[in-house]
Amino acid sequence: MEYRRNGNTEILALIVDDDDVDRERLARMLERCSRPIQVVEASSQAEALEIIRRPASHFDIVFLDFGLEDGDGRDLVPTIHGEVDPDCPIVAVTGFTDELVAAASIKSGMTEFLTKRSLSPERVAASVEEGIAWRRYREELRRAEEELTHRSLHDPLTDLPNRTLFLDRLGQACARARRSGDPFAVVMIDLDRFKEINDSFGHAAGDAVLTTIARRLRAQLREVDTVARLGGDEFAVLLQNISGSEAAMTMASKLVGLVEQPIAHDGRVLHVGASLGVAQCPLLGFSPAGLLSAADDAMYEAKRGIGKAVVARSSGQRHSTPFDRTGMLVELEEALEDRTLRWHWQPKVDMRDGRVLGFEALVRWCDPRGNAIPADHLIKAVEQSPLLEAFTYHSIDTVLGQFSRIQDELGNAAVCINISARMLERSGFVDKVVALVERHGVDPARVTLELTETALIANPGQARRVIEQLHDRRVGLSIDDFGAGFTSFGYLREFAVSEIKIDRSYIRRFAENRFDQSLVNSLVVLCESLGIPLVAEGVEDARTREMLVSLGCHAGQGYGICRPMPYEDVRPWVEGWNRDHIRSAA
Ligand code: C2E
Ligand code: CA
Ligand code: CA
Repeated sequence: MEYRRNGNTEILALIVDDDDVDRERLARMLERCSRPIQVVEASSQAEALEIIRRPASHFDIVFLDFGLEDGDGRDLVPTIHGEVDPDCPIVAVTGFTDELVAAASIKSGMTEFLTKRSLSPERVAASVEEGIAWRRYREELRRAEEELTHRSLHDPLTDLPNRTLFLDRLGQACARARRSGDPFAVVMIDLDRFKEINDSFGHAAGDAVLTTIARRLRAQLREVDTVARLGGDEFAVLLQNISGSEAAMTMASKLVGLVEQPIAHDGRVLHVGASLGVAQCPLLGFSPAGLLSAADDAMYEAKRGIGKAVVARSSGQRHSTPFDRTGMLVELEEALEDRTLRWHWQPKVDMRDGRVLGFEALVRWCDPRGNAIPADHLIKAVEQSPLLEAFTYHSIDTVLGQFSRIQDELGNAAVCINISARMLERSGFVDKVVALVERHGVDPARVTLELTETALIANPGQARRVIEQLHDRRVGLSIDDFGAGFTSFGYLREFAVSEIKIDRSYIRRFAENRFDQSLVNSLVVLCESLGIPLVAEGVEDARTREMLVSLGCHAGQGYGICRPMPYEDVRPWVEGWNRDHIRSAA
């Protein structure tokens, strides 16, 4: 190896070639570049490796010959990119002139391909410039990716982890606790009087409250603890190594004290209160969803004035008094027995030609006083009650029964049924679903279960097992409300998912919001590469529909296509729709 200097050492180039004449020639050409360049030479693979692996070794560009005495120069590419510098431009310089060789070298991660015969000072100088530009581009891309990942995992106002990252950490803590028994506690914090502050003193005051509290919590907790903002005025904390309800209570009181210290803003002193709910692992089990909802329930108890902080009791005592939903649950239990729950059907269509792809079944219930209970309200109550299992199987049974009666008139359209995340924990879930599918004589390939993205993130292990079992039995699985957590991109590769539904909130803002458009755009690319159909839900108008189609998202569902309708209307609707759309398209 030898060093050649040329003025100020700005660019550091490595030439790997076993032919002394060729190496010399290239080095001389590099030295004639207008940029100051320092050239390092290696005459074998072994020597190159030794140089590359030196501590703090760094090259701005590498020129690599293929046929070296001790091996193929191309073998160095993964070493350079993997061990030393992922953004290092590598230029192939060989005696080969074959197009195929050129293509293969680009594929192997090289940035450029030069043949020895065509080398000239101008060509070499140009490739140095291109290499520098390539590195800059790669670095920008990496920064953008990091930025996007950070943004997708943090709350923009306080920079605390958001719900997605919190759920991820909670999942890890549960897995760790299961392996090693390390205890921890989940704390849910809800601010009291926050809305009043926002309403009377403005959003700036509200933001000041949130950022101050975020800063205090972060400053007072250990590095290993996670403080997250889940949304609005809701925070959550993961406390490592907390065991016993006394320790939990002490920590909880400390947190209440932190939140309730007065906050000075704009010449005023603001006071907010806090309600806290604490759930401990392993006391309450190892399920992230179970712990979260136990902490949530405890927090609501605290809100009702049972204490500023409430530590959830062990599971035997839980669910005994589902707060102020008791009356509703009794009525709901009766509705299940009397089979008075209804499901409305909302079509999902191919927005290019109007082909009906499927129907989503959405629960509808009027309590005995005739009040229509919003579906999400109902589901939240059911999920926190012992009725969940009965409700779920009743919904699958009812909807499949209805589907079986009209399936022959629906072409290939599928039926989609929403499933609560907590059902994943129930043993025999998949077997029961499959038994119901068989009992109603429905082709499992025409049945899709919808599961929210958060369910996957909260409990990836369990989700994976269930999804694989469903896949083996040919039942489809759709990821609902997708987009809240970019982290599940990784999961998508691993899971046998049959559909992704972009969250309604993105579609609502879609026509105006560039960020949402770029999200949809990347989802289209990602889903295409994974071969998973992408569905937009909440499509309310023609403009959104057209933009989605032009971006490559073809399947859609929403008021702008058709509102959810009673089961009895489905058959006539299909007839009318096909008459208007399919025939006219043909
Ligand atoms: P989801 O699964 O995201 O269902 C879509 C919701 O969006 C439905 O609300 C639907 O009526 C509504 N929607 C459809 N198109 C549009 C549109 O263009 N604009 C707007 N703004 N909304 C639209 P719904 O029926 O109130 O259901 C709310 C949530 O309740 C559902 O959200 C689902 O998570 C849950 N849910 C509904 N039925 C069931 C069920 O039988 N079982 C379970 N586990 N969950 C259910
Ligand atoms: Ca759904
Ligand atoms: Ca949805």
